[in-house]
Amino acid sequence: MLLKDKVAVITGGAGLNGLGFATARQMAAQGAKVVVLDLERADPAGAAARLGEGHLGLVADVTDKASCERAAAEVMARFGRIDVLLNNAGITQPVKTLEITGADYDRVLDVSLRGTLYMSQAVLPAMQAGQGGSIICISSVSAQRGGGIFGGPHYSAAKAGVLGLARAMAREFGPQGIRVNCITPGLIETDITQGKLTPERKREIAETIPLNRLGAASDVAGACVFLASDLSAYCTGITLDVNGGMLIH
Ligand code: NAD
Repeated sequence: MLLKDKVAVITGGAGLNGLGFATARQMAAQGAKVVVLDLERADPAGAAARLGEGHLGLVADVTDKASCERAAAEVMARFGRIDVLLNNAGITQPVKTLEITGADYDRVLDVSLRGTLYMSQAVLPAMQAGQGGSIICISSVSAQRGGGIFGGPHYSAAKAGVLGLARAMAREFGPQGIRVNCITPGLIETDITQGKLTPERKREIAETIPLNRLGAASDVAGACVFLASDLSAYCTGITLDVNGGMLIH
């Protein structure tokens, strides 16, 4: 097992069709104790219970620093260590540049970018104490190609910010054995598009992708397990594309 007895914290992990929960399942199958963090309405305790015995679900809003710190303290009280953090919580919005309001900007950037900073800050002292760790940040192909398929420019900016933040943290914490890496998913079939992509549009998109299909949540989960485990022991500051060839660069 690749993650035996590791403690893995996953933000935005309660959506049963999402990348976070798919990763929670794969990490649990690899022997990790998984902590699912999410907003109250997403029922993180219910999601954790579906993983089997010994996992934990906590309500935590990644845009709220105190909430992140509370969650990290609860994880330490329960498990005594934090080995892996998956910064996965994110929201999007399909609008164009001239339509983005200040409130839209704040909402979208706060969850992906501020949330990645706050949650990393919350777990880093535990990783420093444990002399190592792996932080994985979910960015997006939209950060790399100036828009993905669905999210607006503020979403691209948030996800590009995540790349910069993660690379800088990789440089800062590498000497302490803490690795920080990003994943840039292409279009993955989850609830994030809220049913706004028709089956016909999805077929059209799939035809433009070299692997001829949209991604599945499990495709991203496998990459997360790799980056969480010692299989990637010499990888830090990298950006791992999981996009079916949608962007080859
Ligand atoms: P999802 O909507 O299923 O998951 C997002 C989760 O984040 C939800 O469970 C939601 O409750 C949670 N969340 C939202 N605001 C939060 C907050 N303030 N605090 C804590 N949790 C919060 O969608 P998904 O597709 O699984 O998205 C997961 C990540 O992958 C996101 O960062 C998204 O931007 C990114 N991503 C998705 C795709 C895709 O095509 N699905 C592509 C590239 C990147």
